[in-house]
Amino acid sequence: MRSAQMDDVVDLLIIGGGINGCGIARDAAGRGYSVCLAEMNDLASATSSASTKLFHGGLRYLEYFEWRLVREALIERETLLRAMPHISWPMRFVLPLNEDMRFEPATPASRIVAGLFPWLRGRRPGWMIRIGLGLYDRLGSRQILPGTSSVDLTTDPVGKPLKPGMRKAFEYSDCWVDDARLVALNARDAAQRGATILTRTKVTSAQARDGVWRAKVQTGSGPVTISARMLVNAAGPWAGEVIRNVTGLDTRETVRLVRGSHIVTRRLFDHDKCYFFQGDDGRIVFVIPYEADFTLIGTTDVDHKSPDTPPLCTSEERDYLCRFVSKYLSTPVEPADVVWSYSGVRPLYDDGQASATAATRDYKLKLDQSAGAPVLNVFGGKITTFRRLAETAMRHIDANFKRSTQSWTADAPLPGGNFPVGGAGKLAAELLERHPFLDRKWAERLVRGYGTDAMEMLAGARAITDLGVHFGEGLTEREIVWLMTHEFAATADDILWRRTKLGLRLDTVSARTLERWIVDRRSSNSCLA
Ligand code: FAD
Repeated sequence: MRSAQMDDVVDLLIIGGGINGCGIARDAAGRGYSVCLAEMNDLASATSSASTKLFHGGLRYLEYFEWRLVREALIERETLLRAMPHISWPMRFVLPLNEDMRFEPATPASRIVAGLFPWLRGRRPGWMIRIGLGLYDRLGSRQILPGTSSVDLTTDPVGKPLKPGMRKAFEYSDCWVDDARLVALNARDAAQRGATILTRTKVTSAQARDGVWRAKVQTGSGPVTISARMLVNAAGPWAGEVIRNVTGLDTRETVRLVRGSHIVTRRLFDHDKCYFFQGDDGRIVFVIPYEADFTLIGTTDVDHKSPDTPPLCTSEERDYLCRFVSKYLSTPVEPADVVWSYSGVRPLYDDGQASATAATRDYKLKLDQSAGAPVLNVFGGKITTFRRLAETAMRHIDANFKRSTQSWTADAPLPGGNFPVGGAGKLAAELLERHPFLDRKWAERLVRGYGTDAMEMLAGARAITDLGVHFGEGLTEREIVWLMTHEFAATADDILWRRTKLGLRLDTVSARTLERWIVDRRSSNSCLA
């Protein structure tokens, strides 16, 4: 791994190690730019590990006529699936029709329907949903994902967990992605292509002198100055703070912070499909099979004041989500069923919409040269569009450096993703054959996390003891060392909640043992250095 000397002038200093910062770092490094990325905490420690984890077009954005965004995201789904068949896979979504449900016609599309057909006021009729799904199928060119179909809930197994009386549903396709691993793999690939990735490194100020930015950064071992020809502000919820407090620029552009919370319960149903439920407030909530033994439910839309206020799922949000899904499920979900919750803040481009639900999910990139050196500010975006956002960022970057580079990421698998879509089962079987001491679930987890890299991670291991200390739930020293060496993990939380989700399974004693082991390893390594 090549690392930039702090006294070198790099082309790009990227502020923020979420999906947008890491996606831009990877793309730029692959085009030959010298890149340094600074993340003040862990990679994906903010919004990019707190999403609903879908590569989706966003069915509900059709009601806001966000054609460009929906089309780009729909087309992107299959490009991304091919590049990362380990951490993402197709999923079917079941949308039960509940034509009796009345809701506030808050979206532009539902207001038009209410105007044209007043007797439908407050309803999202089945035919309107079918038209929306027809558009959804056609806007994105599909080769892998099946299109929409109708489901008879009285006979299909997906009807079983639902309240009696629900008769009809539509089923459509979108994709799952492990958001936090997506970030780590982008950072790993960026580093393999020459970028320097600095975690626990906060950019505190930046001044432009003679066309070059001098940025002060706070690292674990003290302050350092990094010089860069261009800044990329990919600070997500902190984008406004970086503009005002780090670069000292004055701009009217802002981000609107909208919190979204999710709750996790033990597995609520046996099949592997998701539900898309509509509420009487016009909102929608997903219910998704999660980490084999759990169910993920979300999300909410609540304005959030400051990026520095840690987002937490409030008891009101938890109760709202329980009530929402209990209107559909035959066994109600109670607050006591919630085993974990998480919350994140959407850094939305402020388009002046009154409601948090209506604010645009599209991204905006703004180049500011007013300080005497360029800064590219990134606002908004979705996990699904990170690669396209990075390509758009590269157009601004190329224009600034007067270079003409080629897009390359559409056909380049992420680390471990060099196998066909749908091939994860075969890969897990191969891993199991090579290492018979694993069990099926363990092999599947490793393939879903690391793809073909799982082979390299376990190379030479003939017995479980060859993997070093075992912390429980299949988490061994071998995997931890891999994560610390290749994926910038530095603490037990990084490993248990972002590089893996073993935090859901490991008890607190094992988590503490892991943390102590990491601290001891770090101190023995620094003694050897
Ligand atoms: P972040 O991930 O927040 O990264 C910004 C980083 O900058 C942070 O890690 C922060 O620590 C760092 N930083 C800030 N200031 C500094 C500084 N001064 N120095 C160094 N580092 C700094 N999108 C989808 O496509 N599909 C979904 O299903 C989906 N669901 C969502 C559900 C919810 C509830 C939310 C909140 C969002 C969802 N999104 C979804 C949107 C998506 O998660 C976000 O658009 C995306 O993660 C934003 O990434 P980012 O890199 O801009 O921000």
